[in-house]
Amino acid sequence: MIFTDFNLAAPVMEGVEAMGYEKPSPIQEEAIPIILGGHDLIACAQTGTGKTAAFLLPLIHKLLTQDHDDTIQALIIAPTRELAIQIDQQLQGFSYFANTSSIAVYGGGTGAGFDQEKKALQQGAQVIVATPGRLISHLNLGYVDFSNLKYLILDEADRMLDMGFLPDIMKILSNLPVKKQTLLFSATMPDSIRKLTDRILIAPKQINLAVSKPAENVLQAAYLVYDNQKIALIESLIDGKDLPLVLIFASTKVGVKEVESILKRKKFNVSAIHSDLEQDQRAEVMNRFRSRNLQILVATDIVSRGIDVDDISLVINYNVPGDAEDYVHRVGRTARAEKSGVALTFINEKEMGKFRRIEEFIGSPVRKLLLPVHLGEGPSLENYERNKSSHKPGRGGKSYGRKPSRGGNNSQRRNDSR
Ligand code: ADP
Ligand code: MG
Repeated sequence: MIFTDFNLAAPVMEGVEAMGYEKPSPIQEEAIPIILGGHDLIACAQTGTGKTAAFLLPLIHKLLTQDHDDTIQALIIAPTRELAIQIDQQLQGFSYFANTSSIAVYGGGTGAGFDQEKKALQQGAQVIVATPGRLISHLNLGYVDFSNLKYLILDEADRMLDMGFLPDIMKILSNLPVKKQTLLFSATMPDSIRKLTDRILIAPKQINLAVSKPAENVLQAAYLVYDNQKIALIESLIDGKDLPLVLIFASTKVGVKEVESILKRKKFNVSAIHSDLEQDQRAEVMNRFRSRNLQILVATDIVSRGIDVDDISLVINYNVPGDAEDYVHRVGRTARAEKSGVALTFINEKEMGKFRRIEEFIGSPVRKLLLPVHLGEGPSLENYERNKSSHKPGRGGKSYGRKPSRGGNNSQRRNDSR
């Protein structure tokens, strides 16, 4: 299939060409005709599979070819500021020739930013890209007019529910016209998403391309390593190698700051991104990383999903992610769009059980690498293997190759349970 098969308006096709896309990805092949056909849609596909263009291209086409004015026609809701900015940037790229007006409403930043958003919302832009909290701040002030809205898109819906945005989403929905086309995109399809789609979509078409495995072209491996060996291990992995971009995930803000400051002291080109930074500082770091003026980015969870930076050659999980799907998403930061990459996970003696659960989730063991000799001995592999055989499968037995529901080990993060 090629892009011209969709019969998209000429300015949209020019945008596709300008973005350098040659052929549609599988999710785009399936989603674009459904969206053009006016149906509600639930689309589930792994990170990095091109979901953004799957909704933006038909949306721009419709805005261009159907009756519309300059009032707000479409609302795209995304969980994080970074993602909202990124969607808005792609929108601007694709709609360059179509002249779609848009505005990103994503919080953080300055009071002036809020006033600018307010002005644009009052004047009306055809497409609003927003994070839930910030949009609600504007809604509460009473000047946002959604009465002509025709399209609602929820991007990274699973992430939004994980982050506790369900009440916000329902509140936003109560401000929207009932008659509209609703599209929901998600990397996973937990029960909570099903419940949401039952409530807010009408006779939706469904696409499910989700797999619980990272892309095949990612080389995954892990080290059994004590916390006090981790920095030296990072050094030996990065030092003297010509790695374009490296992304390191740590589970806590404190951890992120520590890794950043130690690597900085060792004169690496490194910065961190976490929620203590102001919005413009975060944007600045992301821009440097994207433009390759920054080699190593250390981050908490906030960037692990949805942020699109090409050519990350190495992803390091400084801690084992708390939830198997986060592992898949983080590993998905590398090897985007058919390139290859390496993802390494550091497992300390306390995290073995957690990592075994990840291996069960993805349905295959991840190779354990030997520590460089100068680091001394790490936690023993026998220990890892031994506990493995005594590991009791949970309710429902082992789930090799099958995707367990999102409950269980991450129930503390769910806000919609119970
Ligand atoms: P997702 O939202 O599914 O995680 P994105 O929409 O962020 O994925 O797309 C991932 C990457 O693939 C981006 O760099 C995007 O520009 C690129 N991409 C998407 N669709 C295509 C395509 N048809 N051809 C080439 N690159 C594409
Ligand atoms: Mg996406």
